[in-house]
Amino acid sequence: MTAANLETTDDRVARTLKALKKNEFLAHYLPTAAEAKQFVLDTIQPGTRVGLGGSSTLREMSLVEGLQQKGAVLLDHWDESLTFEDTLQVRKDQLVCDVLLSSVNALTEKGELVARDGIGNRTSAMTFGPGKVFLLSGTQKIVPDLHAAFQRIKEVAAPMRAKSLNMDLPCTKGKGCVDCNDPGRICRATLILHRRPMLTDITVILIGESLGY
Ligand code: SF4
Repeated sequence: MTAANLETTDDRVARTLKALKKNEFLAHYLPTAAEAKQFVLDTIQPGTRVGLGGSSTLREMSLVEGLQQKGAVLLDHWDESLTFEDTLQVRKDQLVCDVLLSSVNALTEKGELVARDGIGNRTSAMTFGPGKVFLLSGTQKIVPDLHAAFQRIKEVAAPMRAKSLNMDLPCTKGKGCVDCNDPGRICRATLILHRRPMLTDITVILIGESLGY
């Protein structure tokens, strides 16, 4: 058995946290989704305008309900009561919100964050605009490097997202990613944060549970 085989998740989490901090992100590890949720909610005041970047992680943590109880003003383009025009405005408002909550598709052990979008409101807001950004991620999204991050997105994150939308794409029909030309292709813009963008306050919260995709 090699040294790599003997590594635990704790080792990978510790290495990733250290690398994120070296890359100028604030970074924390919290063992449970409940603790991570409380960590975020403690920073929210009534009236805080909170943008929700498209993220299943946030929903699985019941953060939306918690934010409503705190009296936050939610900017949520996944709100099914909104018209298409409303969702466009919400996506724009997220770019200048007080607090953006979102996730990523992969984090590398070198402290890089990777997200791929079909529209790009999430990737734009993660980079510049909001007063504060929290990126929440289950530890299952940690990968060794950028090559593995792109593999994870093609093999895991994008197909799972497409399936959640009931989309008819090669990756939802068991064919894997074929770098498709389908009009419904959801893989259109990739953001890599190599370091914290200079004017953006970003806190990464690694959570010791499998959340989102
Ligand atoms: S490029 Fe197309 S086939 Fe590949 S993961 Fe994205 S949507 Fe699926």
